[in-house]
Amino acid sequence: NQEERQNHQRLQERIANHPCYCAKAHGKYSRIHLPVAPRCNIQCNYCNRKYDCSNESRPGVTSQVITPQQALERVKLLRERVPNLSVVGIAGPGDGLANPEETLRTIELVREFDPELKLCLSTNGLMLAPFVDDLNGLGVEHITVTVNAVDAPIGEAIYPWVNLNGKRYTGLDAAAILWQRQQEGITRAVELDAIVKINTVFIPEVNATHIMDITRTVKELGVFIHNIVPLICKPEHGTAFGAMGLREPEEWEIDAVRNAGTAVMGHFSRIMKHCKQCRADAAGLLGEDIDLQTLTEQER
Ligand code: SF4
Ligand code: SF4
Ligand code: SF4
Repeated sequence: NQEERQNHQRLQERIANHPCYCAKAHGKYSRIHLPVAPRCNIQCNYCNRKYDCSNESRPGVTSQVITPQQALERVKLLRERVPNLSVVGIAGPGDGLANPEETLRTIELVREFDPELKLCLSTNGLMLAPFVDDLNGLGVEHITVTVNAVDAPIGEAIYPWVNLNGKRYTGLDAAAILWQRQQEGITRAVELDAIVKINTVFIPEVNATHIMDITRTVKELGVFIHNIVPLICKPEHGTAFGAMGLREPEEWEIDAVRNAGTAVMGHFSRIMKHCKQCRADAAGLLGEDIDLQTLTEQER
């Protein structure tokens, strides 16, 4: 109907210069990640804490954690160096909301420095509900939540534990709590008019046949875009799934699930197909990141 169409139009305008949300913005606009969040409050079996958060970033790379002030300096420097910087994101190396002070302070500093830059946060969602109003107040319009299961028995195979309010939960409880909290956070984010993206890691033989249920469920919650990414599971990454001998999916498996999801998402929401699984300290156009080491050396 008319209203749906208008909302969609408005949304298209809001994402037009976000390289992750809009495939056409890829190659035109840059995003940078600020690695200010070292800690995490859950454990995913595809993650090794020596590396960056594998939810939105590439496992097997380690970003050096910086302070909010250093993050601001990095934004100032990079705004001059990368083409069309439009988005500043926080995606680890742990979980942004397991480090709320650092994350919120960084967002505040960037917002003061340049209100035009879009702010983007990626999280496992455990602490989204308690912070989503603060994020909205600070102008964070884009929120990504990684949802790998909407059923506790499947979640249990992915998350060995969750830490909440000083207590460690395991087994079915951990998975059930995580999904419950993710749902609350996503619902509130949608109410606040954030543009919500869901990331799902395609884990063969674990959640592969469950992914359509995830797409359906998150669409009902009002999510705009579902990004299904392949499990990265090289033996050298030292993850639990690696030790269990889990395989990485074939390209055709990912294509098939993305195509099926496109039909589920329908006309007004979408499946993301261009994700490159960037690093937590990525900077530049997607796939053409600036080497921060060289950049800082040039500065000396
Ligand atoms: Fe690792 Fe990210 Fe999962 Fe935390 S949320 S365990 S950092 S992949
Ligand atoms: Fe935002 Fe995620 Fe893209 Fe980073 S990777 S800019 S956090 S959507
Ligand atoms: Fe975009 Fe995917 Fe890279 Fe994030 S990891 S910046 S969603 S391409």
